[in-house]
Amino acid sequence: MAAERATDTGVADPFAFPRLCRYFSERSPQPMVAVEGTTHVIRHVNSAFASLFGRDAATLVGRPFAEAVPEGAGNGCQALLDRVFHTGVPEELVEQEHRQVHPRPVYWSYSMWAILGADERPAGVMVQVTDITETALFRQQAVAMNESLLVSGTRQHELTNAAESHSVQLQADVQAREHFLAVMSHELRNPLNAMSAGLHLLKSDGQEPAAAEKTRDMMRRQLNQMVRLVDDLLDVSRIATGKLELRKEQVDLEAVLRDAVESSRPLIDGGGHELVVSLPPDPILLDADSTRLAQVFLNLLNNAAKYSEPGGCIRLSARRDGGEAVVSVRDTGIGIPAADLPRLFEAFVQVDAEWRRAQGGLGIGLSLVKEFVGLHGGRVEARSDGPGMGSEFVVHLPVAAEAAVELPVALAEKAGGSHRRILVVDDNRDAAETLAMMLEFMGHEARSAYDGEAGVAAAAEFRPELILMDLGMPKLNGYEAARRIRAEPWGRAPFLVALTGWGADEDRQRTADAGFDRHLVKPVDPAALTRMIAEMPTRSP
Ligand code: ADP
Repeated sequence: MAAERATDTGVADPFAFPRLCRYFSERSPQPMVAVEGTTHVIRHVNSAFASLFGRDAATLVGRPFAEAVPEGAGNGCQALLDRVFHTGVPEELVEQEHRQVHPRPVYWSYSMWAILGADERPAGVMVQVTDITETALFRQQAVAMNESLLVSGTRQHELTNAAESHSVQLQADVQAREHFLAVMSHELRNPLNAMSAGLHLLKSDGQEPAAAEKTRDMMRRQLNQMVRLVDDLLDVSRIATGKLELRKEQVDLEAVLRDAVESSRPLIDGGGHELVVSLPPDPILLDADSTRLAQVFLNLLNNAAKYSEPGGCIRLSARRDGGEAVVSVRDTGIGIPAADLPRLFEAFVQVDAEWRRAQGGLGIGLSLVKEFVGLHGGRVEARSDGPGMGSEFVVHLPVAAEAAVELPVALAEKAGGSHRRILVVDDNRDAAETLAMMLEFMGHEARSAYDGEAGVAAAAEFRPELILMDLGMPKLNGYEAARRIRAEPWGRAPFLVALTGWGADEDRQRTADAGFDRHLVKPVDPAALTRMIAEMPTRSP
């Protein structure tokens, strides 16, 4: 755009308005302003500008452009006016925001060129304004939309990734569940098949008594296996729903291990394995639920037997290490690949080999081991040098607080300090002798008898203050033996306690009718026994 020559108009004042100019200016749809001098005083405003600006032209003429049309900070209009006035070179400025003009922002672009005076030097500047508000707003919206598209594209990408990994996880869960159901059906069907075959054999005529006994043994074993599976499943669900409660008491680790070994015997002997047990000379007392803890070591011993070729060697050892009991179950079996060690304790994990599957199991034993040990404040770890190199499972458990280590002495003192004469009558010799030994250890004088008749005779001779008597016994059962004792002249004195596996109310009534004072359910809780001895009355004959 060329500089406007005032001389072209043929007048000395470059801002004078001949008719034609006025005509052009007024009819032009393009808003225009003519400013004069260094302060850019408005000399003329056309009607397009007045209507764009929303003011009457008369209110603008005579005022400096910057004052009449104030610009926002950073808007370069004033600077451009100065430059065009001083250089005479036309310039353009695009998209300037004017907030002061309207309450809502408007955007103008400017074209400016110099108005030359008679001396050929700029006397002022012609400002032509283009309202580009709509375009600018549209552009801004487009930019914003682009940005949000970009953001939502990224978000969508993230969501797609998350959905993909979620669906992979779901698929893995479904597969794991299907695998578990298949294994469980297999595990339950096996013993059922064996039991159904056993039933068939028992029903058929001509089976020798010895063969029938063997069949019954087999059925008992299969039933036990099923019960164990169902119990394990129930434990898993109790743990998952937070309903598993421990019944903690002071227990001797050795007794817990003995229980576990006894239960695992059939599997160990069945595999022709040798079991080597090494225990420390001093007892290690734990604050524990003995049933759950025995389950831990039973699982580890069973696994050692299951995952060893016939004729293997299983070592069970326990030691005390500071405040911890450390129990190790080591085998010379098939071992565990290093990659499988970290996930071994997860539920339903079975190291993937047909041979292992053939050993049976649901893959939940080790997860229960970990949970039970954890509930006792301990930890368990698995070690193996790899396939064929055997495995070792090491359990760490906190030992009971020091004060409790004195338990046996404390029990003896609580039992009244004085010793009592106690008779134990049970046809299970081991049970009777163990209980009698425990009572002697507590400071009492104890004897045992192994059937009802012998019990009555021993009572007549020994005159015990307390008789602990089993109910189901040969020759004379516990009820009858009690009646006979009570019928003797000395028979009112002894405190008579029934030992039984049954704790229903009607059983309690039956024992009371037979003359018993108390009814204890097996296995006898030593603490409850101690309390009872301390509290029982002393009766003279
Ligand atoms: P299950 O024995 O029912 O499969 P567990 O949870 O007891 O389930 O054991 C999980 C897996 O750990 C077993 O399937 C087996 O692959 C592996 N495992 C456990 N104990 C041993 C062991 N002593 N030797 C070798 N592998 C073992």
